[in-house]
Amino acid sequence: MKKKLLIEARAQKSSARTLEQPLEDLVPLSVFRAEVAAWAKRIGVTPKEIRLRPLKRKWASCSSRGCLTFDTALLKQPARVRAQVIVHELLHLKVPNHGKLFKALYKAYVPEAPNEIE
Ligand SMILES: [Zn+2]
Repeated sequence: MKKKLLIEARAQKSSARTLEQPLEDLVPLSVFRAEVAAWAKRIGVTPKEIRLRPLKRKWASCSSRGCLTFDTALLKQPARVRAQVIVHELLHLKVPNHGKLFKALYKAYVPEAPNEIE
């Protein structure tokens, strides 16, 4: 999932940030992994491997053999953004493209997400 799509979501979030708990700013790795596991269960997929490392242009990627890589910068993103990225990549384990089926499923799981998908 490309990074530019979530810039707007992040801008909206930062304007509301002063009212929120700063504790949410950096989630522990264990929490992030738990979020991925929870979404994987809900979606009904089993990722072979989940990795985190700094990625330049993308929030995450999905290999053809079912290994997901997430950008470590996601740990600084709000829960809503993390959910969008996690759901997007996990759905690729079911649907390898961004066609109609992918869009419908994505919208069903994260209805608040922006319309563009890449
Ligand atoms: Zn994608």
